[in-house]
Amino acid sequence: MQISTTRSTETVSDERLAEVLADPGFGVHFTDHMFRVEWTPDAGWHGARIEPYGPLTLDPATAVLHYAQETFEGMKAYRHADGSVWSFRPEENAARMARSSQRLALPVLEVDDFVQAVQALVEVDERWVPDPAGEKSLYLRPFMFASEAFLGVRPAQHVTFMVIASPAGSYFKGGVHPVSLWLTEEYTRAGRGGMGAAKTGGNYASSLVAQQEATAHGCDQVVFLDAQEGKYVEELGGMNMYFVHADGRIVTPETGTILEGITRASIKELAEKLGHPVEERKFSIQEWKDGVASGEITEIFACGTAAVVTPVGALRWDGGEVATPEGGGLWSRLRQALVDVQYGRAADDFGWMKRLV
Ligand SMILES: *Cc1c(COP(=O)(O)O)cnc(C)c1O
Repeated sequence: MQISTTRSTETVSDERLAEVLADPGFGVHFTDHMFRVEWTPDAGWHGARIEPYGPLTLDPATAVLHYAQETFEGMKAYRHADGSVWSFRPEENAARMARSSQRLALPVLEVDDFVQAVQALVEVDERWVPDPAGEKSLYLRPFMFASEAFLGVRPAQHVTFMVIASPAGSYFKGGVHPVSLWLTEEYTRAGRGGMGAAKTGGNYASSLVAQQEATAHGCDQVVFLDAQEGKYVEELGGMNMYFVHADGRIVTPETGTILEGITRASIKELAEKLGHPVEERKFSIQEWKDGVASGEITEIFACGTAAVVTPVGALRWDGGEVATPEGGGLWSRLRQALVDVQYGRAADDFGWMKRLV
């Protein structure tokens, strides 16, 4: 892919940047540039460019605003101690976006083009990649949307793919603490044949009211059950789940209606390397309740790019609660193993890291 570059003439000053990187928060500050490429049926992907970061001008009839034909990805760029900048399994994000896009009837952007786009943006905005202390990183948000101005219901004939970047601090302020979960019995996130396995804004839109319910009950996150039987654990709003058993085995809900997390897949490989076989299967809410009560389940954790791995605390629902299992700290060892690879402090035995700058 041929990428043209128009450099910003109003880049943020070194002083201001240092201030931002000292306490970046999440998703509030954006880098000086953005990547953009357009698609039409006749020309395919064309006009790839890096340009100054700024607002988009959209026709009010732009299809995505009405019918939510959209997909996105979430990934990070990590600075290593020698100053180099790396990403974690970016081809997996690219491949997942291709699958999501197929589900949303959007055109597929080739894996190589996706990775090239991400790399091009990180190259021009390299000074925005924070130092690794405190688990800081540059969060990358590739996204694709129906940019055709047309109110008819059909796949858009004009599509835009962009990448924006935002420095991020650690997900946990003041140390990792267990997240409490609200079990929603009213809402589900995905049904059979639906788009639960696609990373698309609509899944997030539908999860917000359940998240509100969780917050109203004093919980940090919501856990969804399967839509068909209301029996099996699916995932949190944006994190996959793992259940550690007394014999060292780990169970994680099978794929199909859940989002196939790249952290989930990586944790599976790391856990198996540490001698913990991982079973992917249906896991019922009853098995959760019974397993904690009997001591069969020793630990529960959730994972995703933003938090990496977080221990799960109490589970609450209307009229009940399951306490937090004691825990043997496996979540913490896995988390450490993963961030050590990401920040270049441990050998990259699986070949997961790709150098960007
Ligand atoms: C992105 C996402 C995850 C986590 O995926 P990672 O690739 O590990 O970041 C889990 N669940 C949902 C619904 C997601 O959108």
